Amino acid sequence: MTPVQPVRGTQSLLGEDADRLAAVVAAFDRVRRLYGFRRVEVPTIEHTAVFARTIGETTDVVSKEMYSFEDRGGESITLRPEFTAGICRAYLSEGWQQHAPLKVAASGSAFRYERPQKGRFREFHQLDAEIIGAAEPQADVEILTLGYQLLAELGIAEGVTLELNTLGDPETRDAWRGALVDYFRSHKAALSEDSVARLERNPLRILDSKDPKDRGICENAPNVDEYLTAEASDFFAAVTAGVDAAGVPWTRNPRLVRGLDYYRHTAFEFVTDRLGAQGTVIAGGRYDGLIEALGGPSTPAVGWAAGIERLAMMIDAPAPVRPAVVLVPLGERAEAEAQRILVGLRREGIAADMAYRGNLKKRMSRANAAGAAYALILGDDELDSGQAQLKDLTSGEQRGVSLDLIAEAIRR
Ligand code: ATP
Ligand code: MG
Repeated sequence: MTPVQPVRGTQSLLGEDADRLAAVVAAFDRVRRLYGFRRVEVPTIEHTAVFARTIGETTDVVSKEMYSFEDRGGESITLRPEFTAGICRAYLSEGWQQHAPLKVAASGSAFRYERPQKGRFREFHQLDAEIIGAAEPQADVEILTLGYQLLAELGIAEGVTLELNTLGDPETRDAWRGALVDYFRSHKAALSEDSVARLERNPLRILDSKDPKDRGICENAPNVDEYLTAEASDFFAAVTAGVDAAGVPWTRNPRLVRGLDYYRHTAFEFVTDRLGAQGTVIAGGRYDGLIEALGGPSTPAVGWAAGIERLAMMIDAPAPVRPAVVLVPLGERAEAEAQRILVGLRREGIAADMAYRGNLKKRMSRANAAGAAYALILGDDELDSGQAQLKDLTSGEQRGVSLDLIAEAIRR
């Protein structure tokens, strides 16, 4: 029988690869606490409408990437492709509005039916940070600074650039959209098939196209700056002034739009050239229209999501877990005594392990292979004398240590 294979685009990770993901989440948890972001948990599944209404029917995510199914009760359910919509649904349904402005952080798996490649999976993991109920540009600055500090904490800020743009207010967006439709219509023949389809329904998305055919045409597309209202322009100026004051380096990318429909004003990506085509590690912006799209009151909000796998590929390998000591018992009596010592050491916070397979030589080589600082050798003679042999695996020195003072000897 052929062994069962994993689902395409999923990963099963062991050791260092898994530790990398955990290190990214741990860094995020440290930083979000410093910024006063409260942890939230939201379901992996939501009613399909939660995503369809907010992300936008015409986006790639909703039109072709969602994992949707009918459950046994006949309801249309979707595995979350991102966190923002679910958090906003909870903001409304769980009464979190009373905490506004609310700063929250989440992390976990997300699902998109995409073509798997380096840095792109069907089940992947995101970090997510949101500030809900704040219309001030200071909220945008805080969310950007949080992203930058996370990258610094991970030791990768140098290799990543913050690209910043504004999509303006609804008035700006409408005027710019109209200009883009006119422009792209006049270049329709040269556009990719996907972008021709986007032309009427979602022309901003053409700017986000990775197709080389579209890239050239996008170069000369109308710039959002020509359509910014005074208000939108002031808002963007306040954001960039705040980001400068916070010492976060950035560059302007006037072609940057986000793949999801709900964005207004600030849009940004932290990008790197170290990951090939999948270079965006953190992406987000202001989404003042989203909560209304869910049937809630008009609520300003800003946030970002980061791809944990992409960040994990960039960081230095986390230090592997090494035991301080490996116990090497010889004989049944010694093995029982070793169990007692082992549990005591572990309770005292000392990473300890036991080699229980093979002869003395095999067991000692296991202790060495585990990268332990010490091996503790325990045979019948040692039990009788109440002393075990503690061997320093770096220097090779060996000395007798009282069975009651092993933790102290290792700590020294
Ligand atoms: P891309 O342009 O790479 O498809 P996106 O615009 O679809 O990204 P967002 O919806 O903004 O991505 O998601 C936020 C972040 O989540 C991305 O910047 C990326 O780091 C990560 N991400 C998105 N899709 C995937 C995926 N399929 N596999 C791994 N990471 C992903
Ligand atoms: Mg995508």
